[in-house]
Amino acid sequence: MPTCYLVSEDGAHKPIKLPHLQPVVLGRGPETTIKDKKCSRQQVELKAECNKGYVKVKQENVGHWSQGLKASMQDPKMQVYKDDKIVVIKDKYPKARHHWLVLPWQSIPSLKALRGEHCDLVQHMQQVADRMIQQCPDKSSLSFRTGYHAIPSMSHVHLHVISQDFDSPCLKNKKHWNSFTTDYFIESRDVMQMLETNGKVTIKEGTSEMLKLPLRCHVCHKEVSTIPALKEHLKSHFP
Ligand code: AMP
Ligand code: ZN
Repeated sequence: MPTCYLVSEDGAHKPIKLPHLQPVVLGRGPETTIKDKKCSRQQVELKAECNKGYVKVKQENVGHWSQGLKASMQDPKMQVYKDDKIVVIKDKYPKARHHWLVLPWQSIPSLKALRGEHCDLVQHMQQVADRMIQQCPDKSSLSFRTGYHAIPSMSHVHLHVISQDFDSPCLKNKKHWNSFTTDYFIESRDVMQMLETNGKVTIKEGTSEMLKLPLRCHVCHKEVSTIPALKEHLKSHFP
C-alpha cells in the first residue's frame, strides 16, 4: 500500500508521514513550523486512507482561546444573571470599572449570523443590559454604553455593557481603546435597527482600520500620544 505524506507547498517543513488510518494531530509547533498563536497546537486531525489515496481532515475548535466565552457562560462563578434565553457574565479582562457580557444560550457565532428572526432576542439582551446598569451602584456617577465589536475576537455573539471610565489595568493598548471608542463599537440600538430594516447587520468596509486610529479621549476628544498618557488624562475626567 502506498504511504501518504503531508507535503508543504513552499517547503516550510519536512514531509509529515500520515500512517494508514492512524489519526495525526497537527498545529502550531516545530513539526509544521507554524508560529501564529491563532493556530492551536492541536488545530487539525488528519486521517489518511492510504489505499484510497485520500485524507480526512477534522478541525476541532473546542479548547481554542476564541471559544472561551462558551466555557465562561456555563460557569456559575462567572454568571451574574441568567434566564431561559440569555446569561450575563463578568468580562474576565474588564476594560473599565464595570464590564459585563450578555450572551444568548442559543449558539450564534457572531453579529454576521444575526437575522431578522433574532430581533426579539437582541432586544431582550438590551433590556437586561439596561437592568444591569440600573442596578449598578455607580450608575449616577458613571455613564455606560452597550454594543458589539464590529469584528469580535471571541466566538459566540456577545453584547458589551461597559462603563465609560475605562479605568482598568486590563486596558493595555491602542486596539483595546479604539475598539470601544470608535465606530468599531456598534451600539446595540443600531444593531436592532439594522436587523429590523435589513434582516442582517452590515459592517462598513475599512472598519478594521479604526483600531489603528490615533488615541483620542472619548470625553474631550484631545489627542494623546501613549496609553500611559491617556490613562493619566482620564484621571481628570474620572477621579
Ligand atoms: P470581543 O470578541 O472583541 O468582543 O471581546 C471579547 C471580550 O471577552 C473581551 O472584552 C475579553 O476581555 C473577554 N473575554 C475573553 N476571554 C474571556 C473568558 N474566557 N471569559 C469571559 N470573558 C472573556
Ligand atoms: Zn479628555
